[in-house]
Amino acid sequence: MAASLPPKKFGTYICDEKIGQGTFGVVYKVTKEEQPRQSPLGQVIYYALKIVQLAAVQESRERELVSREEEILKSIKHHNVVRFVDSFTEGKTVYLVMEYCSGGTLYEYIRSRNTKLPEDMFVNFLKQIADGLKFLHKKKVLHRDIKTKNILLTSGQILKISDFGVSRITDYVDPSKHSIRMGTPRYMSPEILNKEQYDQKTDIWSLGCTAYEMAEMHFAFDGAREREAINCIRNHKLPPFDGIKYCTDVITLMKSMLMKDPEERPTARRILKTLMNHECTVFTAVPSEAVQRPNISSEARDDTTQYHVLQAVRRESTIKPFKLPKEYLESASTEIQKLIVVQLDCAKAVDIVYSMKKHFRESPP
Ligand code: ATP
Repeated sequence: MAASLPPKKFGTYICDEKIGQGTFGVVYKVTKEEQPRQSPLGQVIYYALKIVQLAAVQESRERELVSREEEILKSIKHHNVVRFVDSFTEGKTVYLVMEYCSGGTLYEYIRSRNTKLPEDMFVNFLKQIADGLKFLHKKKVLHRDIKTKNILLTSGQILKISDFGVSRITDYVDPSKHSIRMGTPRYMSPEILNKEQYDQKTDIWSLGCTAYEMAEMHFAFDGAREREAINCIRNHKLPPFDGIKYCTDVITLMKSMLMKDPEERPTARRILKTLMNHECTVFTAVPSEAVQRPNISSEARDDTTQYHVLQAVRRESTIKPFKLPKEYLESASTEIQKLIVVQLDCAKAVDIVYSMKKHFRESPP
């Protein structure tokens, strides 16, 4: 039998597996060498390590982009933004270590489903992305490449904005500085495509495209060829909304993000506020089979359970008797979500969600 090769090492990180490939380089799932850190439950903590090879010709430009990503990541600490852990350089190779998100990308998640997202799940996801974006914009960071492939999920369905390779810290005082064209064409705002000046509202356009994709399970600007999609954006030929069966105010919000005039698009803060005040008219009950049939496939059970725990906790955080500031409840609920999802086994979680839902139905806020 052939001797197995020693595990690949990058600095003090041991490689577990390759998890992705982006424009700048490969991404690996890794652990820390000396003392693999463990969660309170004794699970090994993994990180995502992004390797960026700097090409000789464009070295200074690429190094600038990478260090920009590093600088931005260091200054960002928010539960809906991928956390930066560490970075190091070896010659022309730069290594960026980030929080590992085991749930894959939102792009993959949407396409792995057989059915469209129910409205309350859609609202929950959009709220999380808007919350992360609100934080970035408050820090004067434009992301400039918001898309479903740049939204990562944790196992507890916490959404995190990632990939700051094209972000830059901006001062909104001098918009003429924002002239470099970057991003992914299908999600690009009309002002970027038309090489006009742009600001944080360009991210709101891309968020609108992302929201549409969440609702319809395909790109908002979906021409077979990218050129067709770009022409639709330029001519402001919006995709149809009549197949989306959400409340009117949710559809209105989605359309507002895709207004041609950036001024007319809402800020991330406004989007979040609208969603926080939104009461879904469609209440997605815990599927009876999840409660009554504990032998459904563990994968399906995890998915429904985690989602319903999350929903129930979010609902709990808005019931009035708590009388705590909303901000506190929002951040607390994320922690509680994580705790419940990570610490409870599925059967228990289903029971808890079921009784919570029952409680909320019987005692509405
Ligand atoms: P591009 O750089 O062209 O926009 P990208 O956003 O997909 O592409 P990367 O950010 O390098 O490029 O990521 C490549 C893939 O690696 C992602 O699609 C995702 O599957 C995986 N990945 C990246 N970061 C993480 C992370 N923190 N946790 C888990 N997986 C990750």
